[in-house]
Parts: sequence; C-alpha cells; structure tokens
Amino acid sequence: MMSPVEIWLRERTGLTGMTSAGLSSWQVNRLREVIEYAASRTRFYKGLDETVSLTRLPFTTPADIVSDPAAFLAIPPGDVARVTTLATSGTTGGRKRIFFSEEDLERIRVFFAVGMRTLVRSGQYTAILISDTTESSLGSLLKSALARLGVESEIPVIRDAAQAIDAARGADCLVGMPAELLYMSCLVPDLRPGSVLLTADYVPAAIIDRLRRTWNCRVYSHYGLTEVGFGFAVDCNSHEGHHYRAADFIVEIIDPLSGNPVDPGQSGEIVITSLSNEAMPLIRYRTGDRSRLIVAPCGCGGVAPRLGRIDGRLDKNGDPGDVWNVNIHRLDELLFADPDVRSFDAAWIRENEAIGLRLTFDASRSFDEKTLRERLPHDLPIRIRHADFDPFLERGKRTIRPDLSRPDRATTGSDSGCIPCSPQIERIEGGLRERSRRSGLPKSELLP
Ligand SMILES: [Zn+2]
Repeated sequence: MMSPVEIWLRERTGLTGMTSAGLSSWQVNRLREVIEYAASRTRFYKGLDETVSLTRLPFTTPADIVSDPAAFLAIPPGDVARVTTLATSGTTGGRKRIFFSEEDLERIRVFFAVGMRTLVRSGQYTAILISDTTESSLGSLLKSALARLGVESEIPVIRDAAQAIDAARGADCLVGMPAELLYMSCLVPDLRPGSVLLTADYVPAAIIDRLRRTWNCRVYSHYGLTEVGFGFAVDCNSHEGHHYRAADFIVEIIDPLSGNPVDPGQSGEIVITSLSNEAMPLIRYRTGDRSRLIVAPCGCGGVAPRLGRIDGRLDKNGDPGDVWNVNIHRLDELLFADPDVRSFDAAWIRENEAIGLRLTFDASRSFDEKTLRERLPHDLPIRIRHADFDPFLERGKRTIRPDLSRPDRATTGSDSGCIPCSPQIERIEGGLRERSRRSGLPKSELLP
C-alpha cells in the first residue's frame, strides 16, 4: 500500500503523476507566494525578496523566535486560535511562543488523520499515552483526527506505568514515547497492540526492534516539532524513511557549520520552510535536528523525497558529552539493545574535580558492566547503580541530566579514571548550570 501521506501529497498538489522534479517546481511557485505573504505581514520577514532563490535567503533560528515571537505573527492577534509556549533546547534558554490559526490547526488534524491511516482502521481503539486533553493540544488534535477515521481514542491521565498499562489494555494502537513504551513491554509482554507509534522523543532503533519482537506488532516512528504544528513525518509499511508534509513544508539539509546545502543523501541539519502556515510563516527555520533526505523511490511506490532516521540534536554546546562524544541517544541505542534493560537513568555527576557519568539501571539481571565499559570512552568515569526506575514518574524528553549538587560518594562501583579540573570543565559546568536552571520548567512544557 502506498503511504497515505504520498497519496495526500498528490491530491494536495494536483501532481497525479508525481515526480521529485515536479514537486520541487510546485514548491518553488508556492514559496514565492509565502515570501510575499511573510514580507508584507510580519515584522521579522519585512522586505524579504521573493525573487531570491531559497538557498540565498537568510536562516531563521530558534533564538529569533525566543527574542521576539510577535515579530513572526502574520494575522491579527485576535485571530490566533492557539499559542504554544515551550522551553528551548538550545544554549540561549528562554521560551519560544508558537502561534496557530484555526486553519493551521485544521491542517494538523488532516495530516494526523492521513498519517494514522497506516496504523489503524475504522472501529479500532487507540490509547494516546502522551499529551493531555486541553483544547488543541497535540493529544486533542490527534483524537479528533482519529475520530474522522472512525477510530475511538482516549488520552488518559498517567502518573505511573501501572496507569499507562491499564489505559493500553485492549488497545489496537498505542501512541507514546519510546522509552516509556519499552518499559511497558517489559512489564506486560502479553499486551500485544496491533500497532505502535513512537513519537515526542528520539526513536532508538534498539527500541523499535525490541517492541516488534516482544509485542509482535507493527512499529512506526513519527517526527514532529511544535514549530511545524506537532505533526510532520511518519514512516510507511516499507519503513524506508519518513514521508513528510511536502505540500506544507520545504525541507533542506544543510551543513550546520557552513550553512551550505549538503550533497544529496548526506546527513546534516534539518531546515524547514513553511508553505501553508497562516499565523506564523517560517522561512529556512533551523530545527537543530539531524537527518538526511532520501530521494530514491520508497518500497511503497512513493516517489517524493523522505526524511531518513532522525539522528538526534546538534546543540549540545557546553555538554560534557562533547568531550567524550557521549549523548543520551548514543546511550539509548547502546543500553536498550540489551534485552535485560527495562529502563535506565543517566546523570552527569561530580566527584572532587572530575565529571563522570552515573547510570542507574532497572534491569532484570545484573547488567554486563564489563561490556558497557568497553563500549564507552575509557577515560569517562562511570558509576553504576541498580534500582527500580519507572520512566512515567519523570516524564519528558530523555536527557543526561546534570546532578552536580554534591559529590557523588554514596555510590557503589568503580571509577575508570578522573578528569582534572580545567577551563574546559569550567565551561562544561557553566553549561550544566544553565541546563539545570532550565530543567526547572513545569513538566507539561517539556511534553508537546
Ligand atoms: Zn513509503
């Protein structure tokens, strides 16, 4: 079956004989109108020249939105149907405000309905294990989209894994965060949903693999961000990349350092230009997420370009992981690949003048510490603990959180070395303090 996203794309663009080149020229025509719209209606894009080619236009950054969100507003404030405020993950701190018109929200519902067609059919039931029931939240938009497909759904209040499992019993489809669903699958291997949509965080290949084996179900991954209206791209039954909303957005992949486009198929930063946003047009918006474009046709028969694996985020400036090339995504791939690991927590800790990594495992047996140490940098001090760790108790995007409040003396396990105090460590600690300050934001803001 061809991806419903590509079928929708052909209908929206009128390109029944869809080709990559045909889609590009359709997008370029649409882009001119968008630039004209943004230049005449927003302060931020005022004076932008619609005759200039896309790759010569300046970038828009998250910091631009943080510093003056209203400068992007293209409709009268009274016509804004929803404002979403979210913490930034960049180094600047602050909060982004994203505006939506009623038409923008409707386009999101349409995409959700299109994307979910691969996972569910009329008469089935979906448990939405993310977001909440507030009006126009991600969960509420998804729920109303599913209703259009004749699919019932609930967005339960979840305080721990037990509540999530109760809500998931009997569901044909589960929508949730990767680490949380993996934990559920370890506790209830016989839950057996028909399909699972992993979203709202980095999707480790190790988790996709384990969910497929444990629940014997179809597993899909979704990539979205609030700036583009939550929903953006989802894979099809061929699992050869994410079909995205190419009628609503242009995707570029750039070298994050030079800002130049990368060669086709190469990895780089995802840059997005909106073609339909009414309330808040965005032109060459740097997402900070890393992926690549796949231009070869998909196994489903789709020919529009697709986004490859989302390889995580770029902006880890000031993170100790920069020193060792260790980040939460790498740890997730490495540690969740062990079938005995139900969940784990990672924290940067300090002991005397050194910074190290503390891993707290919820595992069905003692984790193979020797193999772990062999696969992580040898000069990274690691402490290991074992404890119950229900990821539903600390909801939000996964991260290696800073825990530098006091020296970590109460732990067991051995260090594999110490890092002397240096200007580099001082820079790291500055970055950690900043992240620690930001992580004090209300939890609801960390979940879309
Ligand atoms: Zn496909």
